[in-house]
Amino acid sequence: MESKPSFLSTLETMGDYDPDSMPVEQARQLIQQFLAPLTEYESINLCDSLQRTLAADILSPMNVPPHDYSAMDGYAVRSEDLAKAGRLAIIGSAFAGRVFKGHVAAGECVRIMTGALIPEGCDSVVMQEHVQVAGSFIEIGEGHLRGQNIRLVGEDITQGATVLTRGQIIRPAEMGLMASLGFSDVKVYRKLKVALFSTGDELQQPGTPLAPGEIYNSNRYTLLGMLGELGVEVIDMGTIRDDKASLKMALLDAAERADVIITSGGVSVGEADYIKQLLAEIGEVVFWKIAMKPGKPLAYGKIGTCHFFGLPGNPVAVMVTFQQFVRDALRALMGQQPKLIIEFQASCLSPIRKVPGRTEFQRGVLSKDKSGGWIVHTTGAQCSGILSSMSKANCFIVLPASQGNIEAGSTVQVQPF
Ligand code: AMP
Ligand code: MG
Repeated sequence: MESKPSFLSTLETMGDYDPDSMPVEQARQLIQQFLAPLTEYESINLCDSLQRTLAADILSPMNVPPHDYSAMDGYAVRSEDLAKAGRLAIIGSAFAGRVFKGHVAAGECVRIMTGALIPEGCDSVVMQEHVQVAGSFIEIGEGHLRGQNIRLVGEDITQGATVLTRGQIIRPAEMGLMASLGFSDVKVYRKLKVALFSTGDELQQPGTPLAPGEIYNSNRYTLLGMLGELGVEVIDMGTIRDDKASLKMALLDAAERADVIITSGGVSVGEADYIKQLLAEIGEVVFWKIAMKPGKPLAYGKIGTCHFFGLPGNPVAVMVTFQQFVRDALRALMGQQPKLIIEFQASCLSPIRKVPGRTEFQRGVLSKDKSGGWIVHTTGAQCSGILSSMSKANCFIVLPASQGNIEAGSTVQVQPF
């Protein structure tokens, strides 16, 4: 085991730090202080790069477009010939990918298609709708401008320009953008390794009949889904019994193999809730309760260099705490630039009972009223065991700690999923 991490001294400098009931915003900031992003990177094929994180800036090796191209179907002409209305001889044609090889002299033009290279001698394109074709000649009216209907070399991107920056997550647009610049491989940070296990003697795998007292393990699946959306490498350790020795072994094993450990259950204060105790024994507890609902028991700490998130057992609380804390932490560890949290105001149609003291994340259904304003109602019963409330919801209604009861028609803050 390595020497004691320095973060405990960081904590000591935080005056109002209360590991027993951490305000949501303070918990977020505290976690951020411990997150050192990955530095190891690898080069991978662009085809496999979706969801990965750029480990280096991307500079354009070329001008885009690399030459002058036609932006329209029509006729490539010399601007001198546009000065007055007149007749031009069609001497050939140019298509996308098929270059017109000759030189265009005064009084001549070339039939041209969108995306075709502008023939030598030409500097303007007249749309086909604006000419009269008479055999091998065209008649052009007045009012055309030099350089019209041409995509100029370097107009979109100039050679050497920074197109993407390190920390950018690669989405379909970035894959296409890099391809358009000729990259076949891309330098990305290695995948973050996240070990995952559920705790609970009552848990049974779906596909097996339930004995009395058993329930199906749903947290494993919501977590696999949410981790899948982030593109991390999951080490799925299944279910571990509420047995101190087994849990300790699982934690030590996970800390050896992963960058981050995520568990669910066993963080409350019941008889068989060993997680916090074990974290203190083999690692360090930064906090273990958050002033929020759902999700009050949420342990964060470290085991060696491995980050540890002990999520609650309640299925809704697992999703809420993952989305409010773990997801951003994993993104930071993956080297990603911080993602903007989209939050705005909506008129709340449901009255909500709330006691001041904790930040609440109610599940809401957001829509627009007839005049285009945002309205939201809750999904009904907010019991933290009911996953259907997460399935029905399309947003969180975020009620700050100081807030009391909400009357129907009040303005509330919403976070769309
Ligand atoms: P715990 O935090 O372990 O006390 O669990 C709180 C509640 O969540 C209990 O009702 C558990 O049965 C339930 N629970 C814990 N883990 C899971 C799981 N993986 N899937 C579904 N429910 C769970
Ligand atoms: Mg339990």
